Amino acid sequence: MNALRYASFALRGFARRGPPLHLTLFVTGACNARCRHCFHWKEVAAALPGPTPEQVELLAASAARLGPLLWVSFGGGEPFLRRDLPALARSFGARGLRHLAIPTNGLVEGRMQEAIERMLDENPDTFLSVAVSFDGPPAIHDSIRQVPGGHERARRSVVALHELRSRVGKALAERFGIGILVTLTRENQDQLAAHLGELVDELHPDNATLNLARGDALERHLLDVDLARYAELVAAKARLLQQGRLPYFDFPLARVARARDAAMYEHVERVARGDASRHLPCTAGRLSAVIFENGSVQPCEMLGRELGNLNGVEWDLGRLWNGAEAERLRREIVATRCSCTWECAQADNVLFNKRAWPRLARGILGAR
Ligand code: SF4
Repeated sequence: MNALRYASFALRGFARRGPPLHLTLFVTGACNARCRHCFHWKEVAAALPGPTPEQVELLAASAARLGPLLWVSFGGGEPFLRRDLPALARSFGARGLRHLAIPTNGLVEGRMQEAIERMLDENPDTFLSVAVSFDGPPAIHDSIRQVPGGHERARRSVVALHELRSRVGKALAERFGIGILVTLTRENQDQLAAHLGELVDELHPDNATLNLARGDALERHLLDVDLARYAELVAAKARLLQQGRLPYFDFPLARVARARDAAMYEHVERVARGDASRHLPCTAGRLSAVIFENGSVQPCEMLGRELGNLNGVEWDLGRLWNGAEAERLRREIVATRCSCTWECAQADNVLFNKRAWPRLARGILGAR
């Protein structure tokens, strides 16, 4: 894939108005785990069905009318529980989506591989990254996720993803990234940095995503994290990158993405410490949006405010995106100096804010 296809999105990042660069779409509230740190537990408990394929088709068509999408993440619940997941991916892929990210608990083994193979086959313009979640060594992971044997099944899923990648052929394999995702909580904070290294040694992921537990967690005491442990986790990932043990996804501008991640982790830690000295105005609602299972479109996963509901506008995103409420919310987010630790928004905030560029430039020049 041509780097220019990505670089063209950079201009959008600095424009005040324009289409969203990325969307998070909650495709289902159904889940076969019950993670105690889950911020989305109410929707999961209700097993909210996500949008129909027809609604997603309307959504993808309306998003494409606004402009090309750089990134879509399917959230949940467990996305691979949806048997029609490839059809949802195709709605975006057929309209030139560059990157589709799917986090998974790795507990939908056979169906996951079938779905991925179809998505790779049917969306030749799209890079697909699948990240399997781990929350610490087996006993801790299984306890946090409330799934006995869950760690072993997630581990086997990563192995299966590698097997899949080795047999689909070069053209498909080079558009497929295999990641792991770890979330720091009070219960795993003493083990997670070391376990990250163990997972990388054993499972050879392309990348590791680090999350700090957030939001309205099912068990809120899990959010009470020692930030020194977070810094250790970030440092552990930095070492893995330096040692070449995390090759990162092999896509154009990967060096920029790596430098952005490092700057973003620093920013998240500052915000978590309550340090507002280097505030970055939030781009949520301007560059990105989250679409919940019931059609509610919100700037992010955290704020609890909506631009509107797609069910009221025939799933035409443009009518909400260009509406008065969206504009009002965007102004409010900036005026109130809204800040949080949600990594997805902070990654954009670091990338598209001149104040963060010196740090970003150092990261790009120093990146392997
Ligand atoms: S700072 Fe956080 S809560 Fe505020 S709008 Fe951005 S992502 Fe949402």
